[in-house]
Amino acid sequence: MRVTACRIDVLNSFLETGHALSVKDLEGKLTQYDRVTLYCTLNSFICNGIIHKIFSNIAFFGFGICYDTCSPDHHHHVHFKCDECGSIECLPSYHIPGLEIPGYKLTEANLMAKGLCCNCNPNWHPENAQ
Ligand SMILES: [Zn+2]
Ligand SMILES: [Zn+2]
Ligand SMILES: [Zn+2]
Repeated sequence: MRVTACRIDVLNSFLETGHALSVKDLEGKLTQYDRVTLYCTLNSFICNGIIHKIFSNIAFFGFGICYDTCSPDHHHHVHFKCDECGSIECLPSYHIPGLEIPGYKLTEANLMAKGLCCNCNPNWHPENAQ
């Protein structure tokens, strides 16, 4: 893949924020690029397995960076939407369960979990983690 300034800036936006970004978020951050350039970049990232689309329970939300567990046509991990801060995170260690369906070829699955993220959950103390 060709390295362009836009591609680097889009990638850095994901790495800096550490959570999923909507098109609106990206447009707000990267005002130096027009919409066409931005969409081309996002599309080529999708094709190359660098980002994937995320759907909230009602609509398309945006994109998340891909992990080791992703392949170009397989991004079946859980997404988590925080009710408090509104952020959406990829949870690459948590796979959507029970999707080996004999006779069916799965191309897409979405699971959006909702609640309080570990930053907003007052009952979460990192020192208690295993
Ligand atoms: Zn992915
Ligand atoms: Zn939160
Ligand atoms: Zn994801």
